[in-house]
Amino acid sequence: MSSKDYIELEEKYGAHNYHPLDVVIEKAEGVWVHDVDGKKYLDCLAAYSAVNQGHCHPRIINALKTQAEKVTLTSRAFRNSQLPLLYKKLNEVTGYEMILPMNSGAEAVETALKAARKWGYRVKGVPENQAEIIVCTNNFAGRTISIVSFSTEAQYKNGFGPFTPGFKVVEYGNVKAMEEAITSNTVAFIFEPIQGEGGVVVPPAGYLKDTYDICKKNNVLYITDEIQSGLGRSGKLFAFEYEDVRPDAVIIGKALSGGCYPVSAVLSNKEVLGVFNPGDHGSTFGGNPLGAAAAIEALNVLIDEKLVENSFELGNYFRDELNKIDSKHIKEVRGKGLFIGVELHEEAKGARRFCEALMQRGILCKETHDNVIRFAPPLVIKKEEIDWALEHIREVLVMD
Ligand SMILES: *Cc1c(COP(=O)(O)O)cnc(C)c1O
Repeated sequence: MSSKDYIELEEKYGAHNYHPLDVVIEKAEGVWVHDVDGKKYLDCLAAYSAVNQGHCHPRIINALKTQAEKVTLTSRAFRNSQLPLLYKKLNEVTGYEMILPMNSGAEAVETALKAARKWGYRVKGVPENQAEIIVCTNNFAGRTISIVSFSTEAQYKNGFGPFTPGFKVVEYGNVKAMEEAITSNTVAFIFEPIQGEGGVVVPPAGYLKDTYDICKKNNVLYITDEIQSGLGRSGKLFAFEYEDVRPDAVIIGKALSGGCYPVSAVLSNKEVLGVFNPGDHGSTFGGNPLGAAAAIEALNVLIDEKLVENSFELGNYFRDELNKIDSKHIKEVRGKGLFIGVELHEEAKGARRFCEALMQRGILCKETHDNVIRFAPPLVIKKEEIDWALEHIREVLVMD
């Protein structure tokens, strides 16, 4: 079957909730993916930062295979021999003392929302059903009804009401707006330390620390959604590490399994996650041994191969080189580590045509928010590969 045949099938039978570039990938390795027609591409999206460890990392695949032959799913009705080891690994790597595993990122966000509300009622003493959670404009936290309830993106909400109450949206990057939104019923401030889907938006320096201090002063949980910014993407293990803060909870997903299996988690402490009692919350697949085995090895790879350090160093290099490009289209190059956004001017007529031109040249990236090109390759990328990509990026960005 050719690309065209696959695309026809997909368009005919699949719901049209995505608008993918027309490349049909059949295999991948490290930073490279191959389509069904035998063409090879450098992946500069890394499945929205889920494959930070590179596609089909042999160690993670091996862990999956080994575990798949033993036991894949027990449900949490019984215990399994992998989940406790994942807890221990996450505790060693992040320092958080209590963990709740789920599958998709959205489920982990939902878990954090539930934990924050229940903490508000049971620990902070907020009157029942009055809890408020502060979030930011331009956020992305997934697609469930409760999560899109606090989105500021019209399309994410259009046609999906009625929405879940209890959220207050304040301008991202604006400390004063966040402080003013706090009431005695505020239980949490949940935000991305770098906004991914919003266009790789880095908040002003001091924002993380100032909002943290405000949360501490007001007994409000400070929760970072690091599903995309975390696990090395930003050049630190977590993007919150760029300032002197220690979130009460961190939400992770995507690269937690190196893109090999859906695994997400909320990392926190006993005061917060301790509010859950047996039966309060759960998931049939959450914490299953197959996902746990993949996640343990994915974390080992992140550390053994120094991918956080590589992201920091090569990210600086990549951004410096992008900044040197003299193109009338470029408005701003921003980001941290290998989490890079190139915002184009209005007159550039959208980022998609540049992504399509890059695809023709064997580089895969995806526009975010019409006018931003995101460069977020797997963190195993080498300098030579970035140099090769830059040659093409330079040429594409100066086209008319
Ligand atoms: C991708 C993402 C999510 C949702 O994760 P899914 O696995 O797609 O449900 C939540 N928050 C952020 C910041 C994300 O980038």
